[in-house]
Amino acid sequence: MGKFAWPGGALAAVTLLYEDGLTSQLEKAIPQLNEAGLHGTFFPSGDGLKDPSNAVLWSAAIAAGHEIGAHTINHPCDRAHDFVREGFSLQDYSEERLRGEINENLEIIKKFGASVDRPVFAYPCGESVYGEDLKKSYVPLIKEMFLAAKGVAGNIADPEKVDLYDVPCFGITCGTQGMIDIAEKALARGGWALFLFHGVGGDYISVEAGAHREFLRYLVAEKANILTAPFGKISAAIEKSRR
Ligand SMILES: [Zn+2]
Repeated sequence: MGKFAWPGGALAAVTLLYEDGLTSQLEKAIPQLNEAGLHGTFFPSGDGLKDPSNAVLWSAAIAAGHEIGAHTINHPCDRAHDFVREGFSLQDYSEERLRGEINENLEIIKKFGASVDRPVFAYPCGESVYGEDLKKSYVPLIKEMFLAAKGVAGNIADPEKVDLYDVPCFGITCGTQGMIDIAEKALARGGWALFLFHGVGGDYISVEAGAHREFLRYLVAEKANILTAPFGKISAAIEKSRR
């Protein structure tokens, strides 16, 4: 097996991820990405997924080349988090309930126009265990249903070694220079840096809209060296190299 080579002769790769389907992503991040000619991966959940007024915006995002992945409908996490609703914690779920909800999630994004042939997944809260004692893993279920899933470890992924069902990413709350520093680390190592955003110029765990825009400009200026592409596209290239 030869050494993994990034498509198009790039030296490194970047993926821009946006979780929960927040209004600021629809209103600010997507227009900025479109203006830059870059494509991101969105994981809407909860109201961001179900709000009927968002459907047309997600369809437009897909038509513009962005990827929509699954992040569940009800965002089940450990009930130790204070935001988890009664009856919707991972402790309350069975494998059947997880499978049913994820299938429903895929049906919804399919209606937006997303391809659900080889979709991508983001574990809500980065947690992949369920059941009363949180001792059962639902990674096997995700492996059965998805091409790849993102985890939460904050490091640069090595395309030759990365576990495609636990792809690391950086949760971003910093300014432009902090984002560039991460991209440069990926460049130095020939690796894959995944940037996880929530709010962009609003909502929660946010970055400033101007900082996000400046970082997109950096990626456009570096595009001969850094391949910026959706999660599924890069995961598919990695998976193909391992066959
Ligand atoms: Zn989330």
